[in-house]
Amino acid sequence: MKIGIVGLGLIGGSLALDLRRRGFEVLGVSRQSSTCEIAKTRGIVDQVGVSLKLLSGADIVFICTPISKIAPTLKKLIPYLSGETIVTDVGSVKMPIVQECSTLWSHFVGGHPMAGTAKQGIEAAQQDLFAGAPYVLTPTPSTPSTAVKQVEEIAHSLGSRIYYSTPEEHDGAVALISHLPVMVSASLLHTCLQERNSIVLDLAQKLASSGFRDTTRVGSGNPELGAMMARYNKGELLSSLMKYRNSLDMIIEVIETEDWDTLEQILESTKRFHAVSRRDTERVDKNAPKDGLLPGGY
Ligand code: NAP
Repeated sequence: MKIGIVGLGLIGGSLALDLRRRGFEVLGVSRQSSTCEIAKTRGIVDQVGVSLKLLSGADIVFICTPISKIAPTLKKLIPYLSGETIVTDVGSVKMPIVQECSTLWSHFVGGHPMAGTAKQGIEAAQQDLFAGAPYVLTPTPSTPSTAVKQVEEIAHSLGSRIYYSTPEEHDGAVALISHLPVMVSASLLHTCLQERNSIVLDLAQKLASSGFRDTTRVGSGNPELGAMMARYNKGELLSSLMKYRNSLDMIIEVIETEDWDTLEQILESTKRFHAVSRRDTERVDKNAPKDGLLPGGY
């Protein structure tokens, strides 16, 4: 089977690496010829180029460009596809992409492999990035079941855990567990930047240890991707941020009123919720890359 990949960055390059190792013929297309060169030299793809024409023989195409370029890429790709070619994407937001792309191409299956690192570009591509990580598929009632099955089989071959949802539910869920944490983590870092006492700031930086690193890691990722998540998932992200603000206000109030019993009850309930959520992520943590960056990106 011939698999096409458009956008040879962290996600596209990592997908290409794994799929090639699993015996698929991988055709890669990227914007810059320098990226294509690296993909060829590293043996990430079988064939590579900057023209989408290369994908005319592909059975399935993964669009792995930045979110804003997914639908425009599909539009440019269509003249080279046969009617049966399956197209899927890896965008971190699903509603606007699925809405537009399903109208453009009947064999389009929305997808989101939920793995990543803080790095970007072809140099960051790595093997087994998706092993043990969730892979969400968001077909619509009109998506052909054969196309969905095919994407599911490929995602399964990567060692991912497959989940199905509607695009709307996907965006609501990732707003809560991915996009909100990015913004909260960024605002924690931003709070440090606002410290005017240079002695305190300097000491804080020296004292920052694993707790600070864990709570701020996702706020130090790819800024372009972070801004795009907010732009394309604005409604759900704002709703999550408002809920977060309410939680923060409640915690401020119990501390101001010295209601220590209520604070302890809140911390008990969050501890229980964390333990339940963690059960699902344990397999992902086991696959953490050696450099200490956990998979489970945007
Ligand atoms: P990335 O490392 O910056 O890679 C994106 C690649 O797309 C770049 O290498 C660039 O290739 C290429 N590109 C840009 N515009 C293009 C165009 N018009 N035509 C063809 N190629 C183009 O970003 P990424 O982290 O892999 O993210 C890619 C997608 O994966 C995004 O939609 C994102 O939402 C999704 N995603 C990201 C993560 C994560 O944690 N990073 C996780 C899951 C899903 P050149 O080098 O040739 O310019």
